[in-house]
Amino acid sequence: MTQITLGSTGIVSDRNAFGALPIQRVNMESAVGILRKAFDGGITFFDTSRVYSDSEEKIGRAFHGIREKIIIATKTRADTPEKFWRDLETSLTVLRTDYIDIYQFHWPGVCYKSGDGTGMYECMLEAKKLGKIRHIGLTNHKLDIAQECIDSGLYETLQFPFSYLSSDKEISLVEKCKRANMGFIAMKALSGGLITDSAAAYAFMSQYDNVLPIWGIQRESELVEFLSYIDNPPLMTEERKAYIEQERKELTGDFCRGCGYCMPCPVGIEINTCARMSLLIRRSPSKNHLTPKAQELMKKVEDCLECGKCKTRCPYSLDTPGLLKKNYEDYKKILTGEVKIN
Ligand code: SF4
Ligand code: SF4
Repeated sequence: MTQITLGSTGIVSDRNAFGALPIQRVNMESAVGILRKAFDGGITFFDTSRVYSDSEEKIGRAFHGIREKIIIATKTRADTPEKFWRDLETSLTVLRTDYIDIYQFHWPGVCYKSGDGTGMYECMLEAKKLGKIRHIGLTNHKLDIAQECIDSGLYETLQFPFSYLSSDKEISLVEKCKRANMGFIAMKALSGGLITDSAAAYAFMSQYDNVLPIWGIQRESELVEFLSYIDNPPLMTEERKAYIEQERKELTGDFCRGCGYCMPCPVGIEINTCARMSLLIRRSPSKNHLTPKAQELMKKVEDCLECGKCKTRCPYSLDTPGLLKKNYEDYKKILTGEVKIN
């Protein structure tokens, strides 16, 4: 068993934490079953958000009666005090609890601080004073906001994308959090589905003793895989190092992580799939991406208005319309057989 302590919060969790975004996609009964199985297998940390539709409700149902045995981290996208309190009360109700262990600002456009005029950080302080939340955190995809969050000294945890595809900048962020005694919660540890070897992903994480990865789990088979790591944590071997090096060469750079923050698109292009089709089709069974439905999805790229809205919203500063075009051209060549894939 490998335990992580989340900085000054003192919260201890196994390196396997549960990211509850994907359980939105399964029905209540299956989700409750997966969550309970996760708990029975040794997972005690569950991360969700007010904006993950019924994810909080599913957690509330699964753990009613054993609340004190688990850690709940949830988030609010509120940008006014009024919305903050509404979100917090709703979360408490659907989670069936009277406190949240870590309450996080969910991907705010600025790092809220005391006295900045928004009143947002003051809401966190008040909620903490009232015992409704125990620790204050922030999640983001932007390095400058993450840096500001650490420098402010006002937050106990930072949640940020981190995987073996991350750059030195993200690694510095992890180290900076450690120096500041802040917990680092790693999202997108499988980089939105592009990393397919979870043992290699886990072994990479195990090099950082202050990083808690929240694995996005939807299926029982995925859960079984992660639960097996509690007793048998994958180690960083020479073979895994070489594999990760190879993966980094193939994937680091201007590639779409599938986060979907650039959406919605005014003409309905499913950007988070289409802008990374070239990778998906080569890294997962290609037949799933060649169905008539998938072809229709890709054909939509022809409708792009070049309005640039997606580009301004992409946290990785990608040239999204350009990526879409590039992926569509490649896809067409695969369809005609001009480009061969396995
Ligand atoms: S540039 Fe194209 S893909 Fe991006 S939002 Fe506009 S229409 Fe959609
Ligand atoms: S283009 Fe950017 S914002 Fe859109 S899904 Fe890809 S990585 Fe996310």
